Amino acid sequence: FTSILLQCRAGFESECAAEFSEQALGAGHTGYVRFERNAGYVRFMLQTDALALLQQVSFRSLVFTRQWCACLEPFDQLPATDRLSVLLGPVATLPACAELLAEVPDTTEGRELLPFAGKLSSAMAQTLRQQAIMLPRKARTDWRMHLFALSGRHLLMGVSPVNNGTKLAMGIRRLKFPAQAPSRSTLKLEEAWHWFVPRHQWGERLGGGKTAVDLGAAPGGWTWQLVQQGMFVTAVDNGPMSEDLMDSGQVVHSREDAFYYQPPKPVDWMVCDVADKPARVTARMLEWALRGWCREMIFNLKLPMKKRHLEVQQCLDMIRTGLEQADISYSLSARHLYHDREEVTCYLDLRR
Ligand code: SAM
Repeated sequence: FTSILLQCRAGFESECAAEFSEQALGAGHTGYVRFERNAGYVRFMLQTDALALLQQVSFRSLVFTRQWCACLEPFDQLPATDRLSVLLGPVATLPACAELLAEVPDTTEGRELLPFAGKLSSAMAQTLRQQAIMLPRKARTDWRMHLFALSGRHLLMGVSPVNNGTKLAMGIRRLKFPAQAPSRSTLKLEEAWHWFVPRHQWGERLGGGKTAVDLGAAPGGWTWQLVQQGMFVTAVDNGPMSEDLMDSGQVVHSREDAFYYQPPKPVDWMVCDVADKPARVTARMLEWALRGWCREMIFNLKLPMKKRHLEVQQCLDMIRTGLEQADISYSLSARHLYHDREEVTCYLDLRR
């Protein structure tokens, strides 16, 4: 293995690279990054053990990496036909896998290669299974195989740890836009739940008539998700809320400033999608946590154009420091979700 492939949203390569480099160095690995702006991926070139590195860095601790794998030397002169004959030898040296993800850079150009990557990976998986190099689909394994196509002649093959990564191809959670939801933003909260709340806990943590506050709620995409889970929501925003949503009877609209609003009593969930400076939003989130106004929160930080990785780290540190000084136990994580644009989504768990 000569490199680690990191996939990210196009335009966020430098954030992805800086974040991963810091973690790799912290784990005692040396290497350097290679990327082109807007390519949708970064390569971390290393001489140390790439498989070990993927086990040392927690995938969930990375904000800007959507998907990763440790790669063999790139294949960059593939023939136009019978590509498998070139690929199979090196691929047979990979650790045992039971699945193969077909991936491409998430860019306009990259997405055009998806049918090609899909066909080639199906043919490869079939052949590898016939040769007993790849295990049956349901077999338990420690590794997952990736095929990352850059063109018809150029691709990367690699593996990622099954228990420290994501099984979603390209790290993308595809969700259907619910026609009744008042805004497309609704998908950000839905995706956040998929990422931060294990599916088998949805009933217990989201359902059962919970209470919630939605800061910066209008027109109501996030409130709609909360209502779908059966929650009773206070929607705080000066702007108008969708009338259909208000008709549900589960929403109270409070036309207040989200930075001053205080809940009359603690709620189960607070979510916040206010468009304002990340540091200002973070300070308010910390205030909610210190005052014990909610048990769990999901908030979005709109990122400035520059130093986005640094900005996120400073915001997360502000919360960590504040909660540690107050001796409050918590768990905090952040992720640049597929449905996030120039923003990241954070989750703070204060259940004790
Ligand atoms: N999450 C919403 C949805 O899914 O429909 C979209 C929220 S939109 C990105 C940001 C909202 O923050 C706007 O509706 C805006 O009115 C509101 N906002 C900005 N500053 C605010 C403040 N100080 N107090 C309350 N709302 C604010």
